[in-house]
Amino acid sequence: MTQANNLETNWNWVGRYVAVIVVSLILGAALGGMPLFAKTYLISGKLNAAQMVRFLGYSTALVAFWMLGQQLTTVLRQHSGRWAALQNLLLPLVTLIVGSAMYSVLLLVLAPLLDATLYKLYDWTFVLAIIACAIWLIMAVLGQSDALTEAFTGNAQTSQVCAACGTHNPSDSIHCKQCGKNLQQA
Ligand SMILES: [Zn+2]
Repeated sequence: MTQANNLETNWNWVGRYVAVIVVSLILGAALGGMPLFAKTYLISGKLNAAQMVRFLGYSTALVAFWMLGQQLTTVLRQHSGRWAALQNLLLPLVTLIVGSAMYSVLLLVLAPLLDATLYKLYDWTFVLAIIACAIWLIMAVLGQSDALTEAFTGNAQTSQVCAACGTHNPSDSIHCKQCGKNLQQA
């Protein structure tokens, strides 16, 4: 409970993640644009330092973005009210975005190394992974449809979120329908 309160009043950690994302993107783009990096090859004619530094910058930004989504999910889980409904949607959504972007970012270093067969295998791996994320997101939307309706119609106060297990209960409930915890105590 104290952890939830701390995170609720202190959002500085979000700023730190955003700073890492922005700096990584800028460094990747800026260093990747330098002629020195463009002319310095690791594999002659195929893979240069510019591609590698772009890959490092952009993938760091994507990992930080995913971690931000995971942290926000943890905070939302401890949080009742209007935005609690987003808790189960955030991670599949962020994973879908990161996975889709990672396809291009990994290609920065992999494209010169892949032959036609491996390229096809690479494409299929991402197609299946992205579809899996999309299904995960749809299942999360279905599972949270009541809570989402409340969030978007502004009637979140008509339900109580159980502090123990996160289940949404009708506002007049005394005990959680899922775990039985007394809701009036929270
Ligand atoms: Zn419960």
